[in-house]
Amino acid sequence: MHLRSAGVFRSAHTPYDLWNVTLHSVAEALQLVLDRAEPLAPRSIPAAEALGCMLAEAVTSDIDSPPHDKSIVDGYAVRAADVMVDGAVQLRILEEVTAGAVPTQEVEAGTATRIMTGAPLPGGADAVVMIEKTTMDGDRVHVLAGPIRVGQNIMRRAASLAKGHEVLAPGKLLRAIELGVLAEVGRTSVVAIPRPRVGVLATGNELVAPHETPGPGQIRNSNGPLLAALVRQAGATPVELGIARDTAADLRAKITAGLASDVLVLSGGVSAGVLDLVPQVLSELQVQEIFHKVNLKPGKPLWFGILRRPNVAATLVFGLPGNPVSTLVCFELFVRPALEQLRGVPPRGLPRTKAWLTCEHQQRGERPTYWPATLQDARVTPLAWKGSGDLRTLTDASGLAFFPAGDRTFQVGDEIEVLMLGESPRA
Ligand code: AMP
Ligand code: MG
Repeated sequence: MHLRSAGVFRSAHTPYDLWNVTLHSVAEALQLVLDRAEPLAPRSIPAAEALGCMLAEAVTSDIDSPPHDKSIVDGYAVRAADVMVDGAVQLRILEEVTAGAVPTQEVEAGTATRIMTGAPLPGGADAVVMIEKTTMDGDRVHVLAGPIRVGQNIMRRAASLAKGHEVLAPGKLLRAIELGVLAEVGRTSVVAIPRPRVGVLATGNELVAPHETPGPGQIRNSNGPLLAALVRQAGATPVELGIARDTAADLRAKITAGLASDVLVLSGGVSAGVLDLVPQVLSELQVQEIFHKVNLKPGKPLWFGILRRPNVAATLVFGLPGNPVSTLVCFELFVRPALEQLRGVPPRGLPRTKAWLTCEHQQRGERPTYWPATLQDARVTPLAWKGSGDLRTLTDASGLAFFPAGDRTFQVGDEIEVLMLGESPRA
C-alpha cells in the first residue's frame, strides 16, 4: 500500500517514472474525470425542486396567455374612432370590469367601460385610454388627450403563448424564469435531469463534529460542512455521511454507504501517511483507480476512481486531500465540472478572468499553484496565506490566482489568470 502511494504499481492511466514521478497535469486529470462523468438519466421531478435542472422534454402550453384580449393599464375601454380627435371627448360609462371579472356589455359609439389592468376587453372596444388621461364626472368620462390608436394598451389573446405551442425546449436549464413559465402552463412536474446525489465523507481519527470541543490532538471536521455547501452550490444534493475513522473496517462501512450515491467525495486519507487507507479500501470495494496525484498545489494527493456495477449507474469517487484548502481547490477544479456534466450542463467549472497583479509575487517549485487572492476591478492581490491548512484567510478571498509551475517572480502589473470564487448559490 505504501508502495502504491509512492507512485509504484499505478494504473495504466497514470504516467510515472519510478525515480522521477511524472504526475498528470490538471488538464489531463480533468479530462480523465470528464470522460467518465455521464449525464444522469432524466426523470419526472416536482417543478418546485427543479431549479437548476436541465429540462429533458418539450413543454407545451395548455392555454392561451393571455386567455383573452386584456387591458394592460387601468383606464377606459373605448372605440378608438370615438377618440380620434385631438382634444377632450365625453363618453358614457357602461360598467366597471376588474381583473378576474368579465364584461357584460358591448362598447358602442359614445360609450366606454371602466377597466382595470388584466381585465378582459369588452366587445366593441378596440383600445384602452389610461386613467391618467381622463377625468370622471358621474357616469361620464372625459378623455382629455386623444387621439388613440386601435390596439393601444391592449395585449392580444395568446400574444405571449398559444395553446399547444412549445414554450420550453429540451436542453433548457431551468432558472427561476422557467419555473414561472412552467406554472403558467400548468406544469407541477417536469422530466429533467435530476440533481446528482453526492455522498460527503470526512475521514480522520483526529476529527470531531463541529458542535464538539476538540480534545488533545483533535480538530473539528470543517471539510464536511464545506463540501456539503460546495455540493449544494454546484446544483447537487449532498448526503452527509459524517466522519469515518482511519480503520479499514470503519472506512469500508461508511464508504459502502456512500457508494449508493452518484458521486462520493471523501476528504483525507489519500496521502502517504501510515493511516492513509482510503485508496486501499476503495480498491477492495471494487472502485477502479483512474489516477492518484495531480501536479497541483494545493491538492497534489487527489485520488479519483469509478465504481461500475451491472444495471446501476456508475459512482464517481473523489478522494480529496484533507487539508481544507486542498479540499476546496480540488473540488473546484475537478468535482464541480464533473457535477456539471452529470447535470447535463457544459463542464465549465468556476468562471475565470484575467487580472493585473497589484504586488510582486514569488512563485517557486514545479507545481502550478492556485493562490487565494482578492479580485477587484481586474486587479488581483494575493493574500498572506499560510498554506493549505489555512482556510480562515480564504474568508477574504474572492478568487484563486493561478501561477504556472517554475521559479519566477511575478511583477506588479503582470497579467495572470484568476478563478472567481462564487459569492452566492449557483444554479
Ligand atoms: P490527510 O489528508 O488525512 O493526511 O489530512 C491532512 C490534514 O488535513 C491534516 O492536518 C488533517 O488533520 C486535516 N484534515 C483532514 N480532514 C479534515 C477535515 N475533515 N476537516 C478539517 N481538517 C481536516
Ligand atoms: Mg487523515
